[in-house]
Amino acid sequence: MANPRYWRENPSRYNLIGKRCENCGTVHFPPREICPKCRRKSIGKMKSHKLSGRGKVYSFTIVHEPMPDFSLMKPYIMAMVEMEEGVRLTGQIVDCEPARLSIGMEVEATLRKLGQEGSSGIIRYGYKFRPR
Ligand SMILES: [Zn+2]
Repeated sequence: MANPRYWRENPSRYNLIGKRCENCGTVHFPPREICPKCRRKSIGKMKSHKLSGRGKVYSFTIVHEPMPDFSLMKPYIMAMVEMEEGVRLTGQIVDCEPARLSIGMEVEATLRKLGQEGSSGIIRYGYKFRPR
């Protein structure tokens, strides 16, 4: 399936590059052109900011009914991770037994294969999280 938005945003997804508002210091990911807190004051003050990749598990769900893409990994864990910069990202937790996972656990982002685009053979990559 062609997904122009996905591919357009892909470089920032790969590298966890968001934008930091120099007016209030808030980091936004995915990147935003305007800070929702500062609005007009943030114009021209949104600078690229690479996330450290480190964060803590904020909440998680163990998925027992995988999507076709994840058929080899069952069950798998989807978590919301609060990054050091304060933004929350959703991603899969890898290299961790579900029983070992807990809220507040320290994790780091790692680049992994996400899946394949149907029969096109295009492999998508993106971040997942693992314990650190
Ligand atoms: Zn701001």
